[in-house]
Amino acid sequence: MSDLAIRLRGVVKRYGPITAVDGLDLDVPLGTCVGLLGPNGAGKSTTMRLLTAQAIADEGELELLGFRLPEESKQARAQLGVTPQLDNLDVTLTVEQNLLVFAYLYRIGRGERRDAVERALELAKLVDRRDSRVDKLSGGMRRRLLIARALVHRPRLVLLDEPTVGLDPQVRQELWALVDALRSEGTTILMSTHYIEEAQRLADTVLIMSHGKAVAAGTPAELVREHAGDEVLEVYGPPSRLAEVEAEAAGEGLRTRRTGTSVSVLGVESGNGFAPEGERRPANLEDVFVLLTGEEIA
Ligand code: ATP
Repeated sequence: MSDLAIRLRGVVKRYGPITAVDGLDLDVPLGTCVGLLGPNGAGKSTTMRLLTAQAIADEGELELLGFRLPEESKQARAQLGVTPQLDNLDVTLTVEQNLLVFAYLYRIGRGERRDAVERALELAKLVDRRDSRVDKLSGGMRRRLLIARALVHRPRLVLLDEPTVGLDPQVRQELWALVDALRSEGTTILMSTHYIEEAQRLADTVLIMSHGKAVAAGTPAELVREHAGDEVLEVYGPPSRLAEVEAEAAGEGLRTRRTGTSVSVLGVESGNGFAPEGERRPANLEDVFVLLTGEEIA
């Protein structure tokens, strides 16, 4: 088997006139965490659905853990854990019962089911809440349970679709700790997100998607260096001042982007004396994202 957990080549998925995924290539090496980053409608969820064979590609090659999709999706799914974007836990059951149901569905032998559930409870830090009914849990706990449920059968590969969407920043950090724990166990992860910080914090490599296509891929540091340069100058002021700065920067061949009350001038390290008053800061992944997708982000 190759050292890729996921390999996509030229994948296309159309819904009538809409091309949701448009010739996508994606490599996820075993033992790494790859972040799919893109604005709403970029095609992230469709890509995830193709990988779980809930949707079938119109064109292209898809391989998951060495199995071809959709033909061998059953074999692939046995080693795959999936956390959906929408919480579909059984709220009338307890935490432990939810996990036991999945242990059964994943065909874990009767003798091993208890241990498998115990391990998932520990990983998700839900040991103390095992007897709580799901409708009594906080939003963060529910999300941790949703991930734990995807892990009971010790999958080699986990797909996390927007794992922290709608959670407050504190709860998001709890989830990040859980993903970190998974990574340190050597589990391969593909995670879709539209939170820059999440991708920067968790992913070894990031693939930025826009309109169904991959527009850039690499480590966060590589992407920043390649697309946004080293330094950014933030200039604040009234709209007329911002327009002036944009015009001056364009005259110097520098790229800019508007962020509400400021203009960010990229690549000012090569600005040759272009130095309107402002604050300098290192370029970051958000600069790259906005440059490549044209979208502001959460
Ligand atoms: P979000 O972050 O909003 O979930 P996304 O990057 O996951 O966005 P997708 O949900 O994959 O994007 O959607 C990509 C495009 O395909 C969108 O234009 C969407 O409206 C369209 N699309 C997705 N699923 C379907 C479907 N079942 N039928 C018709 N169009 C669809």
